[in-house]
Amino acid sequence: MTDDNEYRFDTLAVRAGQVRTPEGEHSEPIFATSSYVFGSAAEAAARFAGDEPGNIYSRFTNPTVRTFEERLAALEGGERCVAFASGMSAILATCLGLLQQGEHIVSSRGIFGSTVMLFNNYLAKLGIATDYVPISDLEAWEAAIRPETRLLFLETPSNPLTELADIAALAEIAHRHGCLLVVDNCFCTPALQRPLDLGADIVVHSATKYIDGQGRAVGGAVVGDREQVGEKVFGFLRTAGPSLSPFNAWIFLKGLETLRLRMEAHSRNALELARWLEGQPAVERVLYPGLPSHPQHELAGRQMRCGGGIVAFELKGGKEAAWRVIDATRMLSITANLGDTRTTITHPATTTHGRLTPEARAEAGISDGLIRVAVGLEDVADIQADLARGMG
Ligand SMILES: *Cc1c(COP(=O)(O)O)cnc(C)c1O
Repeated sequence: MTDDNEYRFDTLAVRAGQVRTPEGEHSEPIFATSSYVFGSAAEAAARFAGDEPGNIYSRFTNPTVRTFEERLAALEGGERCVAFASGMSAILATCLGLLQQGEHIVSSRGIFGSTVMLFNNYLAKLGIATDYVPISDLEAWEAAIRPETRLLFLETPSNPLTELADIAALAEIAHRHGCLLVVDNCFCTPALQRPLDLGADIVVHSATKYIDGQGRAVGGAVVGDREQVGEKVFGFLRTAGPSLSPFNAWIFLKGLETLRLRMEAHSRNALELARWLEGQPAVERVLYPGLPSHPQHELAGRQMRCGGGIVAFELKGGKEAAWRVIDATRMLSITANLGDTRTTITHPATTTHGRLTPEARAEAGISDGLIRVAVGLEDVADIQADLARGMG
């Protein structure tokens, strides 16, 4: 397509970024090549100097990867996208591409565990410190900003408690203090939430989750403007090389084509499951942004198209009751992964949050009776029946 701006989301999802070769293929090819041939010495020189666009070497230029990047950029409404080998390398590249030694990050608490490790163990070694604040406390965000703060970082909804960050309000705070707002949009994808439209500067993704959506490949991406992402984040990729393979780019490209259909189906199943859970006597409370009982239901309605696929609920009987429900399932997959067609079930207190002290867990709101379900695309009646087995 020549000008992607004139098309709507669903059209961009299936067509943006595709450049047909002289073979006339209908589906996008996988360019399994590490390097490219130049027509002349002058052309090679011009490409290397950046005077002429074109492929050089697949660490940083590959047509299949570029098609994925252009399609995701179009769906997020960003100028540029750079793809990575994983969600974690996308976050690392964002930080190393944009930050200097001595600069500072303010992040929401309860972000993905490996992101916390990256910030605390590796960025800290380079003299980049991070402070954590409660995700929905705007005053705490602003109070944590220092003169050297450069990035505000968040995931919304939070995992596993589905607390929301007010993206528009935080973008305003970030910009007033000369900071960039980075949103990890892995849980919603652009099908449900477009942070750049709400004022965020950069979106990061683990494509491993819903963008693939079928549990097959690991990858990541960063979306934003020409300067921050197109030059600075891209510059890190070009030099350091945590590059997405063309084969995985092709899987994600195909995933984007059905992304909205899948995200709406995940959300529909999740809402129905959350409503059913609210009616179960064994259940103390249900946390899902699509439920009117969610404390930020109104904010969810403003910034998300629907509630997403993650539902958390607390059983009255603590850990024993939670483990009984998990162990009684026959169909659900007991795994901490998410964003798959198959429903997964996790006990956060003894897995993803098991290394925290009991006090830190309590402070984070992770009770022993809490279960997280990443709702898949099975028939929701079968998911309910599987969960009901251990609730009797
Ligand atoms: C999985 C995940 C990541 C890390 O992505 P990988 O592809 O596993 O490297 C980052 N953020 C969130 C919210 C995730 O769920």
